[in-house]
Amino acid sequence: MADFVESAKHLVSAAVSRTTWEAQKQLRIRNKQGEIDQLLKQRQLLLEELATAAMTLYQQGALSQPQLARICASIQELDADLSNREQQLQEIKNETYQPEQFAPQPPRDYTPPPVTPTAPTTQQAPTVGGAPGMTRASAGAGGSGTSRAADKVPCPHCGQPVRVRALYCSNCGKKIG
Ligand SMILES: [Zn+2]
Repeated sequence: MADFVESAKHLVSAAVSRTTWEAQKQLRIRNKQGEIDQLLKQRQLLLEELATAAMTLYQQGALSQPQLARICASIQELDADLSNREQQLQEIKNETYQPEQFAPQPPRDYTPPPVTPTAPTTQQAPTVGGAPGMTRASAGAGGSGTSRAADKVPCPHCGQPVRVRALYCSNCGKKIG
């Protein structure tokens, strides 16, 4: 049966080429994945560059686009929060045990400052005063005893409540104090 032999040969060569094909397919997939990873990495770098450029404009007071300004304000606030917490962490690390001292306070839940998603719609009259501002230097002995409930003051620019020690308003993006 010549036909049978011929078709069996075809089957074998088909099987071999299929294995090769599968291997090459895997290779092509890996190569393509590598290309995509490269592009994603480049994209991430450009995004960081964009963010840095926007932050620089914002810090120079040259970023008038309200949505971007608000994001920058939130980043500034987070940065300030971050360095606060790093300082607190260092203070905790520096603590030494002393007999008959009060037990340290249990940690509170940390809620990051809210980011308002859209442009400000409520324009209240600026209510001035009452802000203890940034007078509270890093608390000394026994510290961290303040209540979180009343930690909001109206922004002097737009009147929206902002956190007491906020450097920038998370609503209008302007500098406070
Ligand atoms: Zn404001």
